[in-house]
Amino acid sequence: MTASTGGPPEASGTSRFAEHEVKALLREWGVAVPRGATAASPAEVTAAARGLTPPLVLKAHGPGLVHKSDAGAVRLGLSGPAEAASAADEMLAGLVSRGITPDGFLVEEQAAPGVELIVGVLRDPGFGPVLLTGLGGVWTEVMRDTALCLCPASEADARRMLAALRGAPLLHGHRGRPAVDSEALVGLLLAIGGAGGLWERLDLGEFELNPVIATEEGVVAVDARYLPGMAEPTGPGPEEPRQDRSRRETPGQDFTALFEPRAVAVVGASASRPNFGNMFLEFYKATGVPLVAVHPEADEINGVPTVPTLAEADADYALVAVPAERCAEVMRQAKGVSFVQVMSGGFGEAGAAGLEAELVRAAREAGVRLLGPNCMGVYSPRGGQTFIGGEPGPPGHVALISQSGGLAGEVVRVGERRGLAFSRVATVGNSADVTPAELLGWLGGDEHTSVVGMYLEDPRDGRALFEALMSVRGRLPVVLLVGGRSGQGRRAAASHTGGMVGDGRVWRALADQTGAVLVGSQDDLIGALSFFQSHASRIAPPAGAVANTAREPWTGHGEDGLPSVLVIGPSGGASVLAADVLDAAGLALAALPDETRDVLKALGAGAAGTSPANPLEVPVGPRGRPELVREVIGAIVARRPYPDVVAHVNVQSFFTFGTSADPLYAYAHNLARAQRDLPGARITLVTRNGECAPPGVEDEVRAIAAGAGIPVYRSMEAAAVAVAAAARFIRGA
Ligand code: ADP
Ligand code: MG
Repeated sequence: MTASTGGPPEASGTSRFAEHEVKALLREWGVAVPRGATAASPAEVTAAARGLTPPLVLKAHGPGLVHKSDAGAVRLGLSGPAEAASAADEMLAGLVSRGITPDGFLVEEQAAPGVELIVGVLRDPGFGPVLLTGLGGVWTEVMRDTALCLCPASEADARRMLAALRGAPLLHGHRGRPAVDSEALVGLLLAIGGAGGLWERLDLGEFELNPVIATEEGVVAVDARYLPGMAEPTGPGPEEPRQDRSRRETPGQDFTALFEPRAVAVVGASASRPNFGNMFLEFYKATGVPLVAVHPEADEINGVPTVPTLAEADADYALVAVPAERCAEVMRQAKGVSFVQVMSGGFGEAGAAGLEAELVRAAREAGVRLLGPNCMGVYSPRGGQTFIGGEPGPPGHVALISQSGGLAGEVVRVGERRGLAFSRVATVGNSADVTPAELLGWLGGDEHTSVVGMYLEDPRDGRALFEALMSVRGRLPVVLLVGGRSGQGRRAAASHTGGMVGDGRVWRALADQTGAVLVGSQDDLIGALSFFQSHASRIAPPAGAVANTAREPWTGHGEDGLPSVLVIGPSGGASVLAADVLDAAGLALAALPDETRDVLKALGAGAAGTSPANPLEVPVGPRGRPELVREVIGAIVARRPYPDVVAHVNVQSFFTFGTSADPLYAYAHNLARAQRDLPGARITLVTRNGECAPPGVEDEVRAIAAGAGIPVYRSMEAAAVAVAAAARFIRGA
């Protein structure tokens, strides 16, 4: 073996580079490694060790020595060349007795003790190269304290990764120890995983520095391991469209005609036995979009005129619901149709990757963009598109991209019930051609869309998704709900770096880097979208300063830099729990300004015998004046602009002594007035225990609130997710 000079070692696919070769490469990249020299045999160790400053370290390398310490192939604290040579004799004898024949030895200077970290790059099957760091050395596996970031990492990403470690206090000088050189650590992370970093130059299968020793003097990588290309994605073969880069050659695809087609064709409706196709014809009749059915014989189906093949249909969009085996044939006749959506399943998701590849090829040949297969359709009240029965909902500004058709239908219908109004909804199923990333990129320039929800199970082209999220970052809020990535998480992980990464953590990293909001449930997806919709005009993209008038959106923070919320509601446990829930969501409840105390007391706010505080306890319910909430909000925000005001009520309390909902409505009306008086503040209403209200009451409260742009939640937990989502977007991270 020869040490690498003049460039990275060529990736050979299977060969492993010796530690000193990887270290030579690191040195070229500006990463500090211990001074050292190699020796082919123990006899050469004395000469190799000459010129090195003790204490010295001796290591053996070769086959079977991936984890050297386990094999007795690391000796520390050697006093000089002579001790290094005798250590090499002993090491060789020990290795041979275990059946290991080393290729050679490395003798190097021993770095001063410090904090040991791990820095590595691994290849996620969906997202490609991912930078990892964490507490390293012997702690790595025990602590499992690591942070991830998709390459390339920015400087801010590198700092965020280090700050995210539970062990971060160790870096800042714990218990009288000096703080480590954090700048050097950031520099190391960027040299490995930043723009132009090592990750770009190597076919990094597994790359790991463990440990990197950090001290106040700097950082030094004392161990380095590189297994080129060992962990390439195992999934798709060359037949699968996933590997097909040609969709990248269609930049700037205009999706307007997908969401606002001049005419729609439906393929697969039956003249005799109603099926999905017939159902869609009925759905479309409600939107009034010009419609044609494709059928070889019938003159009309469901009262819709027919043409014999798709080639005769003059439509921008065709929905195909025929068996999987026949879809490619239909696609070949689709020339002239801009978008063909294949609803049918039975493709890649059912193990028929070949069929899916054939479908994609047919679409390419016909010059058609394919949506799906294995999905539902497109919904756009503005453009006559639907895949849901009944009247189309109101046109609005919320977009949704979903890899599940069924879930998209639920989000649309439940969302509309809760006041959402949609601009564009696309179900993309297997995303064999048009991907969520491509649609998101287009939505970034869509005048009708002000927030995007995404339900994803498989990023398909994860790098493109990363880039699309980056391209809309700070301009367009994206709320991401991720379903289990079955089949994606499987990879051969030879080192513990790979083994420690859960798929969910890569999604978390993606969200942290791009500013996307990751939610955990369909309910929270709808809740966050509804917050962004209601308060769209009050959510300013990250700006430097805090707006100081009630006319502009506020971006105020608490003393500790966290976005600050004013919480108002009835006294007792509910207020305490509200504070806990908001705290857990990363929101701060900044103290009330001193000068409000007297005015609040005069108004009758605050628990008896105590100073008014945040959460502010106000009597709410039959005994409380409904105007109080408005007066209190006005008095406080005139003195300190809280960007978010969360008012909570116990709906049940209004119905304890009577059945009239009027006091509750009055409360909602007063909040609505407060919101109109303060266009810059974001007021949120939490109606707890809504099930105790007579039927229809909650809807009425929601309508009153919606009239003033106030979103309503049934629990503090749901509200906290939504408030935090917007706070995160405003913060820009
Ligand atoms: P392994 O293959 O077992 O991971 P390492 O090269 O990481 O072998 O060595 C094991 C441990 O010895 C390291 O975790 C580190 O604590 C220590 N070590 C190795 N090389 C040096 C060095 N040059 N200076 C200081 N400590 C070292
Ligand atoms: Mg090691």
